[in-house]
Formats: sequence, structure tokens, C-alpha cells
Amino acid sequence: MRATTIHAPGDIRVEEVPDPSINAPTDAIVKVVAGCVCGSDLWPYRGENPIKAGSTIGHECVGVVEAVGSDVTSFVPGDFVIVPFDHCDNTCPHCAAGVQSACVNLGITQSGQAEYTLVTQAEGSLVRTDGMPDGALLPSLLTLSDVMPTGWHAAVAAGVREGGTVVVVGDGAVGLCGVLAAATMGAEKIIAMSRHEPRQKIATEFGATHIVAERGRPGVAAVEEITGGVGADAVLECVGTGDAMEMAFGIARPGGTVGFVGVPHGVELPIRRMFQKNIGLAGGMAPVRRYLPDLLDLVLSGRINPGIVFDLTLPLEQVAEGYRAMDERRSIKVLIEP
Ligand SMILES: [Zn+2]
Ligand SMILES: [Zn+2]
Repeated sequence: MRATTIHAPGDIRVEEVPDPSINAPTDAIVKVVAGCVCGSDLWPYRGENPIKAGSTIGHECVGVVEAVGSDVTSFVPGDFVIVPFDHCDNTCPHCAAGVQSACVNLGITQSGQAEYTLVTQAEGSLVRTDGMPDGALLPSLLTLSDVMPTGWHAAVAAGVREGGTVVVVGDGAVGLCGVLAAATMGAEKIIAMSRHEPRQKIATEFGATHIVAERGRPGVAAVEEITGGVGADAVLECVGTGDAMEMAFGIARPGGTVGFVGVPHGVELPIRRMFQKNIGLAGGMAPVRRYLPDLLDLVLSGRINPGIVFDLTLPLEQVAEGYRAMDERRSIKVLIEP
């Protein structure tokens, strides 16, 4: 099959690789209908993560079931499915506790930007739509493989509640989905930290009530002013850098919580401030399957339309340009059509 591979920082190629095959009774093969580039794909692309030269990359996709192993009884070839980036059995003690991202049988999508992908633990992971969805819904359905549930997880972890004040740090697709999650959960004030006009526009469309373009100390001061000096009840940290985390803790009110979903790189926690102000930290890798059925209902009923985070669609053969566009922040999120 044709698949996206990474060879070195900045070196993305489309190459012929072996087709995935059913190796375990819990496996399924999915023919990818749409995949996309994730902010976390940019870590290895920028040389911040180790790279195994020639390995496939891409962990977000939706598609049609092609083949299933003998233990997979709820899905048949032809089913249109959302593929959570983190595969789980949905039955182990951690799944039962809502931490499917720490499943004892955890698997991760390895070739979401390709023609086919392997889903380990298909029975516990996949969620089907009734028939082929309308093409207009595809982008929103695709966000359900990672970014939308990840933004939702940040909001859940930060304890977003009706009437509360929320700040979202990070204006990538996950941060924007975090704004949408907070709005859907009924937060009253939603402050999006963003200095990019197209992203500010989507944040506003998703329900942000305030936009703060400043960062660092001036950013914290701007939030203080909006919140009457109190700070935010809930802060969604959707970046993963030390600066973003520092700002998140600077913004959270005493007794507040930071929900973090950005893959941490070089983060140090302000443990003294956390202690003195009783500011909590929760979150981590999103248990996509936990939220997937509810989020699918929200998409299918038209209550949320997270698919507008995609501002560029490219054929698989041009995926390298998709990485460049996201790396240079020319694009928020790139949809890839195999
Ligand atoms: Zn992702
Ligand atoms: Zn499990």
C-alpha cells in the first residue's frame, strides 16, 4: 500500500510499504477514507522526538472495515468506522475506570496517513455509523479519532462546568476543540489565547467569549483583568511546552485545575504555586473511546461541527506539503485523502 513515512526531521515521504494483515483474532484492517496530520506528528517532524527512519507515521483516520479477526463480532467488512488513535479492549480495569488510553491491551494507529491501517482491539475500539456518512460530515467525524476527544478530555480533566470561567492555552486544532468542548459543557466565560486571526475566528465560532493575543506575563495580566483579578476556574493546556504550562498555572485561580493534553516536552511544574494556591493538574493522553459515542451523537445531531478546524485538504501524494503547512502554521489542520 501507499503510506506516509518519516525518514529524518523534515523528511516525509509517500512510499510503498507492506499491507497490514490480521495477526491476532482481535485485529481489524480499515481502508482509510480520510486521515490527517496531528500537532503531535510535528514533534518528530521537528526533530524533538526520536525517529526510526522509514517508519510509517499518522494516527488519525476514519474508514471502512476491510477485514476482521475471528474475535471481532460487532463489525463486518463495509462498516464505516471511527478509529480512535488509541486502541483498547474497553473491558480491562483501566478501561472500566474510563482510562482507555492506559488499557492493558493498548495499541496505537500506526498508518493513519495511508491506504490501510491496522486496528488492534477492534471490538473495543471502533465505533460505527449507520451506513456511509454524508461527505459533508467527514471532517467532523475525522476529528473524533483524536483532536475533538482530546480537547474534550482537557475540559473534563480541568473540571469545566456550567457557568464557569475557562481559559484555553493553545490555538491548534486541539485547543480549538477544547473551546468547543467548554462551550458545549456550558462554560460562561471562555478565553482563547491566540494571536492568529483565522484561529481566533474559529475559536469565536466555537464559543470563545474573549480572545487574548498576548502571551507570557502580559497574557496572564489580560486574563486577570477579564476575570476581575480572580483567574480561571479551569485551564486547558493544549500545547505541551514549558512556557504553555507556566502560563496555564499563572492563569488558574486558587482552587482551580489545569487539564493538560499537550504531549509534554521540557515541562517543569510550579509545585510551590500548586501547593500554596491549591491548583490541581489532571489529564494526559485522551481515552478517545470513552467519549466517542457521545461525541458522535453530538456531530450527527449537528450540535457540534468540529470539522471546520480543517483548512487544507491534500491528496496522500502531497502529504509532505501538509506537514510543511502545519509546521509553518500556514494551516491549522490538514486533511489527507488516500
Ligand atoms: Zn493526534
Ligand atoms: Zn482495556
